[in-house]
Amino acid sequence: MSNAIDTNNKIASYDYIIAGAGGAGLSLLYYLLESPILTTKSILVIDQSFEKTNDRTWCFWEKERSAFDNLVKNSWETISIHADSFNKALSTAPFTYKMIQGIDFYNTVLSKAKAAVNVHFQEATILSITAINQVNKSTLITNKAAKVVWENGSAIGNYVFSSLLPFQMNQLATAAAYSQSLQTKETISKKAPFLWQHFKGRVVQFQQSVFNPAVAKLMDFNVPQQGATAFMYQLPLNEKEALVEYTIFSENVLSIAEYDKVLDTYLTNEFSGKSYSIIHEEIGAIPMTLLPLSNYQAPIYAIGALGAAIKASTGYAFQFIQVQCKQLVKQLEQGQSIQPQVHNTRHQFYDAVLLHVLFHHKMEGSAIFKRIFAKNKAATVFKFLSNTSTILEDIQIMRSLPTPIFLPAAIRVLLRRV
Ligand SMILES: Cc1cc2nc3c(=O)[nH]c(=O)nc-3n(C[C@H](O)[C@H](O)[C@H](O)COP(=O)(O)OP(=O)(O)OC[C@H]3O[C@@H](n4cnc5c(N)ncnc54)[C@H](O)[C@@H]3O)c2cc1C
Repeated sequence: MSNAIDTNNKIASYDYIIAGAGGAGLSLLYYLLESPILTTKSILVIDQSFEKTNDRTWCFWEKERSAFDNLVKNSWETISIHADSFNKALSTAPFTYKMIQGIDFYNTVLSKAKAAVNVHFQEATILSITAINQVNKSTLITNKAAKVVWENGSAIGNYVFSSLLPFQMNQLATAAAYSQSLQTKETISKKAPFLWQHFKGRVVQFQQSVFNPAVAKLMDFNVPQQGATAFMYQLPLNEKEALVEYTIFSENVLSIAEYDKVLDTYLTNEFSGKSYSIIHEEIGAIPMTLLPLSNYQAPIYAIGALGAAIKASTGYAFQFIQVQCKQLVKQLEQGQSIQPQVHNTRHQFYDAVLLHVLFHHKMEGSAIFKRIFAKNKAATVFKFLSNTSTILEDIQIMRSLPTPIFLPAAIRVLLRRV
């Protein structure tokens, strides 16, 4: 229900409130600051902490240089896939696979924003965001707005963009608690499957050269599958250093010790017991689902992970967040209605089919990805996973997969109308 608030009250009011200054909130802020049309708009950015740490490494592929290209720490033109005796290196051309460190992104956007007079910051834990009706005392005109409340204060925004999830993606405990709060497997699967892409990564440093810096190992399935789909992800920064991440697509997250055990064994076996030091670690649990995670209504808009920017079948989100935020700024500039939706229906259908197959264990993930990469160019797969493939390219990808498994899954998804 909406509350009525008059415009003469003491609550500070802003054109835009960005609730959550992570990947999506700061991307939106960046594109708002870049807009030549929205320079006079007042913006309030709220986060529980602006003491940012290097809590995540973002990787993605793109053809051209883009807004954050100067932050790219490393990039690769070749990727490789490994499963049993299958080993394949593929050129990514015309795409480049890129890596950005979270901390570089946070610092860049925050320092740009701190220099802007129209941007205000509030460090606080948000308790609620609700739609209200705002009444102008002199004109008696009512307009919709939203009220954001934190422990010792509140503010009103004409538009509120929220990326506040009910769990923290870099804290496994909150993801596990969220999992438990979800309905039963049967109820979820009737609506749409829900899996976590969960992982622990280490940046390791050897004393001698052990990595080929030219090749990003995208998926090495020769690791314990945990009764689901699991792979090692290995991104060399140079010949001695790499990010090595044990990643699983499954219903439940593991304990830290379980990821560590697999990482220890893998690093020992892969590098013949050579010693290494761990110079950085990161953990994550990314929701893979087509279930909506938010039910906000105008003028409150969900963005980022909360706003369905994550590709449900892969967990990639960074590039979709960029598309979403650029799209929102364009809509604001042109006074259009706000549509944060980034994934098109056709590609969402493919995501739903793949998730159905993985969730119901109809085919092993290692076999699916092995077949896709064995029979297609990396560029075709990247286009497919970026939602930019043509129908002909989609058919090409689908022909890589076994019809007796994927056709019934597609029918189940259509009947479920995800
Ligand atoms: C470790 C990790 C690695 C990832 N790697 C990749 C990758 O390589 N490629 C890729 O495409 N995607 C990746 N992702 C997925 C996705 O791109 C990121 O999760 C991205 O950060 C999502 O942005 P977001 O703004 O939705 O969420 P976040 O970046 O998590 O931002 C949410 C913000 O809200 C704040 N917040 C939360 N609750 C409150 C509250 N109550 N009050 C105030 N503030 C609050 C948090 O402090 C945070 O700053 C990764 C995710 C993780 C966790």
